[in-house]
Amino acid sequence: GGHAVRDIRLDFPAFATTGDGRPAAYLDSAATSQRPLAVLDAEREYLEHHLAAVHRGASAATGESTTLFEDGRADVARFVGAGDREIVWAQNATDALNMVALGIADASAGIGGPDAARFALQPGDEIVLTEAEHHANLLPWQRVAQRTGARIVPVRVDEHGLWTIDDLAAVLTERTRIVAFAEVSNVTGLIAPVAEIVGLVRERAREAFVVLDACQSVPHRPVDFAAYGVDFAAFSGHKMLGPNGIGVLYGRDELLDALPPARTGGSTITRVTLEESHFLPAPHRFEAGTQAVSQAIGLAAAVRYLEGIGMDAVAAHEEAFAARVVAGVAEIPGVRIVGPQPGERRAGLVSVSVDGVHAHDVGQFLDEAGIVVRVGHHCAQPLHRALGITATTRASAHVYTTVEEADRFVAALGEVRGFFGLAREAS
Ligand code: PMP
Repeated sequence: GGHAVRDIRLDFPAFATTGDGRPAAYLDSAATSQRPLAVLDAEREYLEHHLAAVHRGASAATGESTTLFEDGRADVARFVGAGDREIVWAQNATDALNMVALGIADASAGIGGPDAARFALQPGDEIVLTEAEHHANLLPWQRVAQRTGARIVPVRVDEHGLWTIDDLAAVLTERTRIVAFAEVSNVTGLIAPVAEIVGLVRERAREAFVVLDACQSVPHRPVDFAAYGVDFAAFSGHKMLGPNGIGVLYGRDELLDALPPARTGGSTITRVTLEESHFLPAPHRFEAGTQAVSQAIGLAAAVRYLEGIGMDAVAAHEEAFAARVVAGVAEIPGVRIVGPQPGERRAGLVSVSVDGVHAHDVGQFLDEAGIVVRVGHHCAQPLHRALGITATTRASAHVYTTVEEADRFVAALGEVRGFFGLAREAS
């Protein structure tokens, strides 16, 4: 892409150097990303000069505010290969996944009428999920199972936390109604072959809806939901250089027009009587109440910023980070790499487990060395249980992450076991 990381970092106030000392290495972008001035400015500009209600009233100010809000939706739609009507604002990915699951639970209870009947699950129907899912893509499905009598069918992971399309194929049946998985795992960095999986599901489980957790893919690589053929997808603004409090539910438009809205209220309807309501088409039927307008506008600015760099370049930059970290960590005795092994492809994050040292101690050691990472189960307890560990330490990159930061992480990790009085050799 021709965009040097050095130049990119100048766009991020968080990395402004204060004079003395090196800034901390921020290696926790998979949890939340830093934001460029373009995003902060877009929000501020809207709040200072264009703030007014959207989709309400007839004033010029409201019209202008509504245009900015809807233009933001169009920017986000273009970014992920969606039509404008297929992008629903949510609070975050968790909220978006809940909207799908709760809509399905409602449809299963007869809400939404004949249009929604196609979403209805019966006792004994199957919800296929991988064991690597983030709790955001697990707990909502547990709720659906509780409400409908459907059953959760896991795709198991191997000793590295990985699963394959063959593992998924092995559990698909005629009773499969939902197939939900992350395009990129927030723990292992595994990249799922989404289009191939959708093709398989269409062949083997004709009644199934494919729900994609795109939380760790949309911010970091090119995605095209229409080309993938997924039914629903979810992602968060705050992981893609955008604001907190805004996320996206994607749904194919014919599905969104039929799915019962999980939340009901103002701005979602055509006609209301005391007994019943008729809902607008998507996306507005899902957007009950006052929306996060400045955040949506900030997210659109984040999308344009990422487009300016180019998502192929973003992915290449971050995969190079991960490859460098994996190669370095592979040389450290007593440190286990979770996910794809050296030489195998992975997205721009690396989780490790240090023999004999709890991840929280690793995190504290790294923190004192000026390296910001995430430690814990990363909202993926079943995955960690399958690996036989309670917690891992994760380093993750974004557009602004440097090679030097990768090397600092590896060097500090190499000191951990010695610091805690353990042999530098594996036991
Ligand atoms: N899915 C994945 C794979 C994630 O990494 C995350 C964030 N850690 C989420 C879902 C949930 O995102 P949010 O907290 O923004 O709703």
